[in-house]
Amino acid sequence: MTSKPILRSIFRGFRKRCPNCGKGHIYGRYIKPADCCHTCQEPLAHIRTDDFAPWLTIILMGHLLVPTIYGIERMYQPPLWVHASVGGPLIILLVLALLPHTKGACLGLMWALGLTGDERQ
Ligand SMILES: [Zn+2]
Repeated sequence: MTSKPILRSIFRGFRKRCPNCGKGHIYGRYIKPADCCHTCQEPLAHIRTDDFAPWLTIILMGHLLVPTIYGIERMYQPPLWVHASVGGPLIILLVLALLPHTKGACLGLMWALGLTGDERQ
């Protein structure tokens, strides 16, 4: 069994690159993994990250947004309609932008550990 560098694989995945070569794209579409890397032919589609990436996205966005919203509220005290009309869509866009990166990081971690998402306890 060969060990794969975990941090490098996570970083490459976060950049939406193949955890093996770091050059090929890991997605065919938005967050649908390509069958294999187009550069090194490493199979990727069999790795299922399931809810790992959405949970990681929620954790990261929560730690980023709660202090930001709290700071904006403390400094400017905008009315509720501003929070709802500006903040709501902005949060959705940020989550949708971050999700492919977190899923890539999860895919890189699982690839480095040799996991596919089908493991039993
Ligand atoms: Zn590759």
